Amino acid sequence: MTQGNTAPPVPLLDVNRGNHQLRDEILAAITAVVDSGRFLHGPDVSALESDIAKMCAVPHAIGCASGSDALLLALMALELTAGDEVIVPSFTFFATASCADRLGCKLVFVDIDPRTYNMCPDALAAAITPRTRAIIPVHLFGQCARMDEICRIADRHDIPVIEDAAQAIGAAYHGRPACNWGSMGCLSFYPTKNLGGFGDGGMLTARNDHVADRLRLLASHGMRPRYYHQVVGINSRLDTIQAAVLVVKLRKLNDYTRARQANAARYAELFAQADHAEQFSLPYQDPAAHHVWNQFGIRVTGGQRDALKAYLQQQGIGCEVYYPVPLHEQKCFQHLGFASGSLPETERASQEILHLPIYPEMQVAEQDRVVSCIRQFYQQAYRRQAA
Ligand SMILES: *Cc1c(COP(=O)(O)O)cnc(C)c1O
Repeated sequence: MTQGNTAPPVPLLDVNRGNHQLRDEILAAITAVVDSGRFLHGPDVSALESDIAKMCAVPHAIGCASGSDALLLALMALELTAGDEVIVPSFTFFATASCADRLGCKLVFVDIDPRTYNMCPDALAAAITPRTRAIIPVHLFGQCARMDEICRIADRHDIPVIEDAAQAIGAAYHGRPACNWGSMGCLSFYPTKNLGGFGDGGMLTARNDHVADRLRLLASHGMRPRYYHQVVGINSRLDTIQAAVLVVKLRKLNDYTRARQANAARYAELFAQADHAEQFSLPYQDPAAHHVWNQFGIRVTGGQRDALKAYLQQQGIGCEVYYPVPLHEQKCFQHLGFASGSLPETERASQEILHLPIYPEMQVAEQDRVVSCIRQFYQQAYRRQAA
């Protein structure tokens, strides 16, 4: 038996640790908004927009209500019509795809690169048809997709690229920031993202003045001037209170990222001392990618993923599977006709991946415990086999 159950639990996520360190500064920023009464379109919103635009090296950033809305607005700005095809990975969060379905577009799911879990450029090239109107690569878990190749393919066919950078704020590829590659980029400030607010929030980036103007129009009911509606838009705004919180936290983003990178490096070091190659593999780092480690996912082979997950949870170690059911296998997308087996790398990843805690404030002792619990699992499995 192990003595593990008496050790303190290690949560998968703990937003309070980071937020409490900034409590006074954040409360002062919120108080200033309360006193100003400018709950929408306040100065913190434009301050955050210009900070994010600068960070992504793009001329425009536009606040909106969530990362999901950012994706929806980006597709609305392309004025797609029913039957237009939008290429997305299936191994991602639902919002990457739901935006296209909501607009009546035809979703075309493509398989992933098994090392990075990101959209495979060859699969993308093979999926393009004369009806393809948009491509949405996702920078999954904090690592950019192969944007040089993806953009080259898109440019050849003159198809706009929308980057889903919800998990990758501050990431880069070949030194070029996420959200700078595509014609538009989408960010999320969901509390557990690398820059997390105190509720929902999102942001769009745009490289073109006309596109940026269109996005602002669509995010405010298509209304210009007041009560005159040019197009049917939606209401999607970033609250001033959220922006005020995010302006404070953005100053720490580089520190948070470095802490995540240090945790990833430390996992690699700790696991290097154990011979685990036959049991699981550590996340692959594309040498061209500046990885910001929203998630740290190991790939567990031998059909042991669910048993390892159950063991860790029983030991009080937070872990999770992102994502257990690929989008093409979701009930709501069955009508699209992507059979099981049609995206083999996506399906294999969803069966093998397991995510471990990596948040910036994670303690060294906590990380040691995660690693030793994983070792214990395999030692016990070995003993069971030997018995
Ligand atoms: C979180 C996330 C979104 C959606 O962001 P919300 O702000 O939660 O709406 C979209 N795509 C990906 C890949 C995400 O991880």
